[in-house]
Amino acid sequence: MRVPTGKPHNRAVPNTSWQKRIRRAEHLTVQLPFAAEILGFYVHLARFQESFYQRLQHDSARQAPAELSHLPDSPDLLSSFPAFLCFVEEAGPSRFAEVAYHLRHSSSACASNLLNQIWSEATNPPDTPEQFLAFAFLQPYAELLRSRAALPLDGYTHSRCPFCNRKPAIAVLRPQGDGARRSLVCGFCLCEWEFRRIVCAGCGEEDQARLPVYTAEQFRHMRVECCDACHVYIKSVDLAKSGLADPLVDELAAVPLDLWAREHGYTKLHPNLLGL
Ligand SMILES: [Zn+2]
Ligand SMILES: [Zn+2]
Repeated sequence: MRVPTGKPHNRAVPNTSWQKRIRRAEHLTVQLPFAAEILGFYVHLARFQESFYQRLQHDSARQAPAELSHLPDSPDLLSSFPAFLCFVEEAGPSRFAEVAYHLRHSSSACASNLLNQIWSEATNPPDTPEQFLAFAFLQPYAELLRSRAALPLDGYTHSRCPFCNRKPAIAVLRPQGDGARRSLVCGFCLCEWEFRRIVCAGCGEEDQARLPVYTAEQFRHMRVECCDACHVYIKSVDLAKSGLADPLVDELAAVPLDLWAREHGYTKLHPNLLGL
């Protein structure tokens, strides 16, 4: 049953994590005009991913649990890739749209190899536009499988994702008592796990003097956590300063912080969904 809504602002409460991300991206698009193009594409991408996720959820309920070491031989998965590429050709930035066009016109073996490579290659983050497309396409599937896994997170102290073994793409500070605890978030399966606050997630450096944190007036709830030992950085989202923030979306939106970090000689620990 549809409930009539009287006023334009009287919108339904988002009821899935996808809807929450989409709403947050729409909100930030208005606040941060410089990120409007990226967030606009993300909104389209998240809508595609949500419907893909729901289809996979329905289909995979009948199937045996998938292995992480290789991509399941699922016709549903492979047959959805051309539709994803079409979507990117229409809605994506040119650097992705052109690659999507070429991929769509390549052999199915080529697409299958690419998807398999991105699924099983946890050690090296995606690096080319082609690899980012495969990463973004497979991300909902990884998220679905992770949501069904029973992960023993108690006592887990490593910096790599406990589910898919990738490096974290985002750090999060959550209020705890008078302070905040830090956790790391995988950019692929979106697993979040606690991690000590004063330790580099890249190399394990613990000397606070070599772990500078930078902030910018423009993003009061964002931090750039750097390491002067291995020269990597990760952006963290401080939920104590903005309860409305969404780690994935707010990390995407704070592009100027990535530019700043790169100008200062730091490399990102793991790129985000859009390859930044
Ligand atoms: Zn993961
Ligand atoms: Zn380090």
